[in-house]
Amino acid sequence: MALLLVGVVCETVAATGDGATDQRHPLEVRALTEPREVLAALPAARGALAKNDHEGLAKLALAEANACRVIADYRCQRRAGSAAMAEADRTASVYLQVRARIAQGRALSRLGDYNSAGRTLAEAQQRLGTAPDDELMADVLLAYSSISERLGKLDESYRYAKQGLDHAPAARLPEMRLRLLRNMAHIASDQGRPEEARALMQEAKAILPTNRDPKLTAEVLLEEARAARAMNDADAVEDLGRRISRIGDDLQNTQLHGLGYETTAQALQIRGENVAALALYRKARAEFAELKLQQDELRTTRAIVDLQLKGTQPETLPESIARLIALGDQTNRTEREAAAADFEERLRYAESDAELARANAKAENERLRAAVSENRFRFTLVVGLLVLCTLGVVVALYAQQRRHAAMMRERGREMEIAISTDFLTSVYSRRYITEAGERAFQRTRDDPSGHGLAVAIVDIDHFKRINDRFGHAVGDDVLKAVSAAMRAVCRDSDLLGRYGGEEFAVLLNGIQPGHVAPAAERLRAAVAGAILSHEGETIAPTASIGIACLTPEDRDFDQLLIRADRALYEAKAQGRNRVVLA
Ligand code: GH3
Ligand code: MG
Ligand code: MG
Repeated sequence: MALLLVGVVCETVAATGDGATDQRHPLEVRALTEPREVLAALPAARGALAKNDHEGLAKLALAEANACRVIADYRCQRRAGSAAMAEADRTASVYLQVRARIAQGRALSRLGDYNSAGRTLAEAQQRLGTAPDDELMADVLLAYSSISERLGKLDESYRYAKQGLDHAPAARLPEMRLRLLRNMAHIASDQGRPEEARALMQEAKAILPTNRDPKLTAEVLLEEARAARAMNDADAVEDLGRRISRIGDDLQNTQLHGLGYETTAQALQIRGENVAALALYRKARAEFAELKLQQDELRTTRAIVDLQLKGTQPETLPESIARLIALGDQTNRTEREAAAADFEERLRYAESDAELARANAKAENERLRAAVSENRFRFTLVVGLLVLCTLGVVVALYAQQRRHAAMMRERGREMEIAISTDFLTSVYSRRYITEAGERAFQRTRDDPSGHGLAVAIVDIDHFKRINDRFGHAVGDDVLKAVSAAMRAVCRDSDLLGRYGGEEFAVLLNGIQPGHVAPAAERLRAAVAGAILSHEGETIAPTASIGIACLTPEDRDFDQLLIRADRALYEAKAQGRNRVVLA
């Protein structure tokens, strides 16, 4: 029974000290005195936070866990503890992660799930190793002390609490020290060391006036009542019971109400007022039953059975014993349920974590895809611009090339003209006449129509004398005049060229044999008609002409020329200014 009572006494909240206190949400501090108002205010406070404000959400969950603890709703505390752990684990704050685990460990321990509680607190301690903090360390040790006590390991419990004191100096962490002292006093008294227990309680009572946590005050009062009861001081026990009930009223804490009744019942029992005591135990039991505080209910039921066994209202004894047995079964079942609920809670958060991870992965995926398509767009843009630039360059080069080609063609034409034209007389050049003659030779030889080809070679008579007498420039003028005169009498199909110095060649295309001699005569007459005057003197040039017609014997144009040349030689020999037909 004493062991079970200790469980109640051991309920704690993180002490209000320096430093870490600053990190506490105002609602958590308020939860110590106005737990129900805080629970009512939490949804709005949560709604005001961003969904990803995990630090804020963790602090609110801790406030909720604390409020649940003050009204002794340990299932609510466990739920809030789970939420606090899940949110804190999404932050980098070791402080929040550890505090969430302490809150959760406390709730689990209070619900009898010691395995889960121990594991959760071990996690808290492990995380503290990376960021030592006296208040949190003392808090973890306090929780270990409470669990050990519940499990009946009193030496261990005492040792943990004593270790905790090293981390909780009165000046800095008075409330934490108060809790540790209370635990130690309880064990010292249990283990039969009343002097030590009294000394520890003296120190605890000295700290009490500065305590801001009314529930803690009630817990210390309970411990005092326990000591008074051991000394059969009924008045003191009764007074303490009343004070505990008052705090229960203030906090609307049904458990404290029940504990107040229970304490008062114990005072009555000391005085031997067993009927009244039994009635109060029953009232206390009803309060505990309402809260489903099985251990508290079990303890009061035992007290009831104890009284009934001693003869107080024995008629309902079987009923009480049946209740005692049922509570034993129920406790076992509840422990299993607690373990299952804890497991489910963890699973739920694991799932929401997985969902969060999935959502994050999806968002990351979207971001990457957007980045890729943006890069692709940029790439396309750059490639497009490059293609456009290249096209522009190609077009520009092409245009330049065309201009250049046109220029080259023009030059070519000019060159061709230059090559095919005699610069002095503007008639065809020797080269042109030779090539045209070769083409005409082929054409005429292959032509079945019978149209012929003749070539006349015209040589100016005694031209040297003209040069000698009038000068070279006048000679040039004579050459120009002679060419112009000959051209005037040529047909469109005839080609006139300068063959050398004062020698001309005339290609007579498609000429009929009968027209050859007259054509040559026209040329001769034209030259003879090209009379110039220079400084009062008349210059009257003449020319000798040899002309040859294409015959089947001619193998090439050259042969035709040779025959015309021979005819010219003959014309010179016959006295000049005449035509000789080859
Ligand atoms: P022939 O009657 O035997 O043909 O006597 P020719 O004096 O005409 O013949 P020759 O071959 O002895 O002289 C030709 C002259 O023509 C010699 C040369 O100085 C002159 N000559 C050649 N080319 C030109 C030219 O472009 N301009 C001028 N002014 N004279 C030229
Ligand atoms: Mg000559
Ligand atoms: Mg001559």
